Amino acid sequence: MNRRKIAVLGSTGSIGTQALEVAKLHEDRFEIVALTAYSSKENLFEQVRLFRPRMAGLVIPVPLEEIPEDLRFCQWVFGSECLTQAAQTDCDDVLVSVVGMVGLESVLTALAHGKRVLLANKEALVTGGHLVMDAAAKLGENSLLPVDSEHSAIFQCLQGAQGNPVEKLLLTCSGGPFRTWDRQAVRNATRAQALKHPNWVMGQKITIDSATLFNKALEIMEAKWLFGVDEKDIQVVVHPQSVIHSGVQFRDGAVIAQLGTPDMKLPILYAMSYPERLPTGGAALDLFQLAGLTFEKPDPDRFPSLRMARECLKAGGAACCVLNAANEEAVSHLLYSPAGETMTIGKIYDVVEETLQQAGSLPANSLEELLHADRLARNIARERLNRG
Ligand code: MG
Repeated sequence: MNRRKIAVLGSTGSIGTQALEVAKLHEDRFEIVALTAYSSKENLFEQVRLFRPRMAGLVIPVPLEEIPEDLRFCQWVFGSECLTQAAQTDCDDVLVSVVGMVGLESVLTALAHGKRVLLANKEALVTGGHLVMDAAAKLGENSLLPVDSEHSAIFQCLQGAQGNPVEKLLLTCSGGPFRTWDRQAVRNATRAQALKHPNWVMGQKITIDSATLFNKALEIMEAKWLFGVDEKDIQVVVHPQSVIHSGVQFRDGAVIAQLGTPDMKLPILYAMSYPERLPTGGAALDLFQLAGLTFEKPDPDRFPSLRMARECLKAGGAACCVLNAANEEAVSHLLYSPAGETMTIGKIYDVVEETLQQAGSLPANSLEELLHADRLARNIARERLNRG
């Protein structure tokens, strides 16, 4: 059997690492042909040693002498061009699991070169959903497969649609660590409190986004583009147990949902093997171990990120791009600046809201216009954050 050739962008991150684990588990099915990392060179060296790709890259350049002798068999590319090079390397699929807006260019490059994209980067659809979906449509059906667990769940449910019209998408949300807190307590919460996610172990940025529900806000945007539905037909369902990964309500009244343990390997492997299904090697869901499944309506008053997402989708243009950039700046301030320790979660909402107001309506007809909106929003947000 021909192995599918996969390029992994962001291979040392949480998704990239797990993708390589399932690729190893099914090494008769997958061949890793390119690996790129941001700066974790030691981890990347280990991966290159194990998977022997034809190309490897580091976004933060190192001198060639730092590449161990035994790893010089492959082509090394340094700087952000390693992403666009990996995206057009000789392969079948490109797993885009880099964080940030850099993912948009990688996705567009991969699609333009006829590669199937396994999408684990939120920003590509959030900021340039229309450009990405146009490029994917040109390439053909299922040329863009979601890896995000909720969107993968919806995609899996839609396999059972068989022409049954969709009434609405049910996008589940754990509610994060502040689910039961009142509005003021959420606003006053700190970094340490936000980093305690109840169900999923993830990167730091997405953990903060899961506490503010900006993660869900971005996922509403992703779902709108991926599945071509109106934002009003995307219902966020707070489901603290994270057993139902999302679902679809059909017009005939049927609801199809996908359930499982909180293990990203399933959505990752499903995208890699689609339309086939392969075992992940993880523990199966034991329904008898579950105490119960509960559901709550989301509260946009306590979590204004959800309201902002819908407003931005209605506004169109670069509004979603501006929201994303302002949130990224605020979260990075919270996580990495000395002032972050005393910064509150309420400040993130304020900075995003004020940046949206100040940036106003901006065009988003090309990658260049989006990059411009992104830079402008970051400047506004940073200026606001530094004012204290
Ligand atoms: Mg998700």
